[in-house]
Amino acid sequence: MFVCGPTVQDYLHLGHGRTYVFYDVLARLLTHMGYKVNFIMNITDVDDKVVEAAGRANRDFWVFVDHYTRAFIQDMKALGVTTVRRYERASGYIQEMLFQISSLIEKGHAYVSEGDVYFDVSSYPYYGQLSKQGMSELMLRPIEMSSKKRSQVDFALWRSMPPEGCDPCWDSPWGKGRPGWHIEDTAITVSNFGPQYDIHGGGYELVYPHHEAEIAQAESFTGVRPFVRYWVHTGMLTVGGKKMSKSEGNLIYLKDGLRKYGVNTLRWYFMKTHYRSDVSFDEKDVELCAGEVEDLISRASKIRERVHRRLKPDITSEVASRFREALTRDLDTPRALASLKRLAADSSNRKPGLYLNQVCRLVLAAEEILGL
Ligand SMILES: [Zn+2]
Repeated sequence: MFVCGPTVQDYLHLGHGRTYVFYDVLARLLTHMGYKVNFIMNITDVDDKVVEAAGRANRDFWVFVDHYTRAFIQDMKALGVTTVRRYERASGYIQEMLFQISSLIEKGHAYVSEGDVYFDVSSYPYYGQLSKQGMSELMLRPIEMSSKKRSQVDFALWRSMPPEGCDPCWDSPWGKGRPGWHIEDTAITVSNFGPQYDIHGGGYELVYPHHEAEIAQAESFTGVRPFVRYWVHTGMLTVGGKKMSKSEGNLIYLKDGLRKYGVNTLRWYFMKTHYRSDVSFDEKDVELCAGEVEDLISRASKIRERVHRRLKPDITSEVASRFREALTRDLDTPRALASLKRLAADSSNRKPGLYLNQVCRLVLAAEEILGL
């Protein structure tokens, strides 16, 4: 499983937190069900946006990038995201990117133009399938106008840089420059997983052009189709109808949110909305979650005390059926949380016995899967 990680130009905000908690819960659920989950997340540390941000901050590029990379990993730990096996920095895969780009040129899927290299979209017949767009629709959404491109839907694999913009730059057969964003992820995933793997995630705003481009690059490079078996995209966290983002200036940093509300409240809050829906951030909703999650945790600990025995986590019993069904049907966390709340409340006055044992085992499993 691969999920698009952050561009390390700033601290994570609550929108990132929401996305990453979802994939953490997905990986926890799959692990609980017996799958071995090899979960890799990339870190975009080579990108024009990062170079510009380091310049604005008047910091050395690598010092700047290291600072935000470390902060990101710290935030993920604090958020209880424990399932990512490896974080892979794009800067560690430049040789793989150069190899893939050269091979795409050789195979006729890419072309060199004034020191830049572009992917030739007309050479790949499935372009637009993931985002359900035909070529005429794609032509209406050029991603970046440039006279160097044969077609405006083509995207950059490599960009040459003038000497004064070369911090950082790498040598390539086409001159000194930097890779395009999309090829970074293909270099990481094909190197680690081979030509095909199961799950690729990220926010739905990445479907076009980022994920569409990843598919075109990987399948043209390896010749194996499909590159990814399941695409899973999350909705956005919005504030007053706008996406929470640096460019909108409406950020709440994740570290501040964690300090203010605590990790359990934030995870509960994120899980209360289905992952494919957008969430409109409202502080009152988060405060409501604080009460709910506290109540559940105290009921759960009372259930554990009354059971007296060491039990194994389990979601296969009859008692757990609603919780299990909710999660295994497109990870419906809001329904799973509701069933857990009902069950915990109903169990308060039950006598110890088989029923309470089963509830206890479900509670243990739920803590493991939801990361509470
Ligand atoms: Zn990505």
